[in-house]
Amino acid sequence: MKSADKLTRRLNREPRNHISHSQILLLQVIGGMYCGMKYVFLFLMALVMPLSAMPKLILPTENKAVFQQRPNDFFMYVDRHFEGKASKPWSAGTYGFVRNMKRTSDGVIGTKFHEGADIKPVRRDARGVPLDPVVTIADGVVAYVNDKAKGSNYGKYVVVLHDWGEGPICSLYAHLNKVYVAVGDTVSQGKEIGLLGYTGAGINKTRAHLHFEVALMLSNDFEAWHTKYLGVPSGHGNFNGRNLSGMNGVDLIAKQQSGSVSSIKSYLRKQPAHFAITVPVAKTAKLQKRYPWLWRAAQGSHPYTEITFSGSGLPLWAMPSKRKVTQATITGLKEFPGRHEDRTLKRIKGSGRKGEISESGKRYLALLFGE
Ligand SMILES: [Zn+2]
Repeated sequence: MKSADKLTRRLNREPRNHISHSQILLLQVIGGMYCGMKYVFLFLMALVMPLSAMPKLILPTENKAVFQQRPNDFFMYVDRHFEGKASKPWSAGTYGFVRNMKRTSDGVIGTKFHEGADIKPVRRDARGVPLDPVVTIADGVVAYVNDKAKGSNYGKYVVVLHDWGEGPICSLYAHLNKVYVAVGDTVSQGKEIGLLGYTGAGINKTRAHLHFEVALMLSNDFEAWHTKYLGVPSGHGNFNGRNLSGMNGVDLIAKQQSGSVSSIKSYLRKQPAHFAITVPVAKTAKLQKRYPWLWRAAQGSHPYTEITFSGSGLPLWAMPSKRKVTQATITGLKEFPGRHEDRTLKRIKGSGRKGEISESGKRYLALLFGE
């Protein structure tokens, strides 16, 4: 799959903030007089970095095999039965369309989206019960704890909220055996928040793993949406998994450690886009307030906004637009041989350049745009 497809390229033109040559020269002179070349660099960095920025992240368990080119020791497999063959592919534990395989005109593809990483335990007791501590990837505040094994597909799970100057960024740790923290606790990076386990749906002792996500919050009034469409509140407030749109957290950590990514914004700008939706600007006010950095340019007097999404519906960036629409309209679509249903969680129907927002797609947009 080409990561920089046409849609990604088209929407990839970003206005950049430059410091002028004369400003740099001035800073070098002052900095140089002050404390030598090493400090010039630090001085410049302090000027261009926001006050709170993404710190150096760490993996959430002792398992580091993904950084040692042993993905099969890192990602938990699923038991797959496809076209008469049984297999245990580790790839099904990675982030993406990696499950519920289907033979299509686009080849054999996964049609079910896995919105996180399933990380294998590295330690078990004599009875096979995992012993891996689960730790926070960065400093934060415990925003949600579900300490009941039932009532969520995630089983027992913890959500930690991080302030990296980019709005609410959540890390989520699921299928835990035990939880060691409570809502409101301030946790520092590496703090043990629970024990890896196998609570929740579709999991057993053999396949025990940590389901790990890094996510944006789609709505700050999730239960109103849930009640409107499903009749009752979900019981997990804004920290229901459906309100947390996950990115590839393990890839984020790897890219940050290699130096190619420094913020959630810079990470999302590089992700492959699948579709773009244009709406009247009033609909995007809440999203813009929560994540202003999604906007690649000031909204100004443009009356419309085009938001670009990954296939799973993760908002990647937004652009002011003059294109007149009365309701949410598809204004960009990735071209590939298959059906959009298979690559958008059925939110977009159709194929090729033609697409239509499905009923579930409309419900999804209602969540994001607060209707
Ligand atoms: Zn999972």
